[in-house]
Amino acid sequence: MTPIVVFVEHAAGAPRRGSLEALGAAGALGAHVIAVLCGPGAEQAAPRCGQHGAARALVLPGSGWSPDAAAQGIAAVVKAEQANAFLASATSTGRDVAPRVAALLDCTLFSDCTALALDGARLTITRPWLAGKLDATLKSSAPVLCATLRRNVFPVRETGGTAQVTTGNALGAGRATLEKIEARAGGKLDVSEATVVVSGGRGLKEAPHFALIEELAAAFGNAAVGASRAVVDAGWRPHAEQVGQTGKTVSPQLYIAVGISGAIQHLAGMKTSKVIVAINKDPEAPIFKVADYGIVGDAFEIVPALAQAVRKIKAQG
Ligand code: FAD
Repeated sequence: MTPIVVFVEHAAGAPRRGSLEALGAAGALGAHVIAVLCGPGAEQAAPRCGQHGAARALVLPGSGWSPDAAAQGIAAVVKAEQANAFLASATSTGRDVAPRVAALLDCTLFSDCTALALDGARLTITRPWLAGKLDATLKSSAPVLCATLRRNVFPVRETGGTAQVTTGNALGAGRATLEKIEARAGGKLDVSEATVVVSGGRGLKEAPHFALIEELAAAFGNAAVGASRAVVDAGWRPHAEQVGQTGKTVSPQLYIAVGISGAIQHLAGMKTSKVIVAINKDPEAPIFKVADYGIVGDAFEIVPALAQAVRKIKAQG
């Protein structure tokens, strides 16, 4: 059975969702899945990996967080286990650690993959090319296929299994170490974490009109506010909210694009969303080509009505 090592991020004693998706993707290939968890809190989170397809969960203890120390530890595990593949979620931490692991293994990293397949003993991956215009299926000739997986694309599998939890070598000190994390005031839901994203574009005309987008997001309760680059460049919204090629990649259950034309660079960041709703007054706007539901009309009339309808449905439970 193909051994695959998966880097499992954890917080508050539990694996993070993106890592559970990566475990699920590896398990769906029928692989022998080895979860690797690093640093403080890893022991508490490790047993949960069994319920999501890991046969083994290996804890690499450490007193703090250092991406290069974690990468050294994970690369050593990949070598020791003679794994065919190393996977991580394409989170900011995954994107920090995975290239380091790939470099230590002298392998190419395939980033932001949207599909995996087993071709004999070799893995092939699919990933968007040219800002999502093409899907490329690639095979690595390196001994270990290293890949990060786009979030919210691979389902979390509930296998109900049990992982054999073991403790490996303690992590070294690392050159870059995390000192502290401080939550910003207001602690908004991040676009890449949310199951619903409501994004606004230049069609909103001016920054204060984003109140409409915030109102619709608030009506859902679990939605984050996103933005096109045009409005971020104009200083209406922070870069943290930008969706697209030079912003964040999102793949929520529901993506609502309001007054966004649908430039290829924007589509690159949201095309894999499960359901896309576009609101635009131009029936020829390219966003409608990727939308599951399109509303042709004025955002200033439609968005408040939609927010009211969502509130009403939520109130009915
Ligand atoms: P516009 O293209 O101006 O579209 C506004 C839309 O609003 C129009 O379709 C219009 O019909 C509609 N509208 C107007 N009034 C109303 C109304 N009252 N009601 C409803 N609809 C209305 N863009 C990104 O978003 N993310 C990126 O990461 C990104 N990266 C880029 C990287 C590079 C290298 C380059 C060159 C560009 C990048 N862009 C990115 C920019 C991208 O090409 C577009 O310029 C940008 O996405 C346009 O933003 P927009 O849709 O808000 O504005």
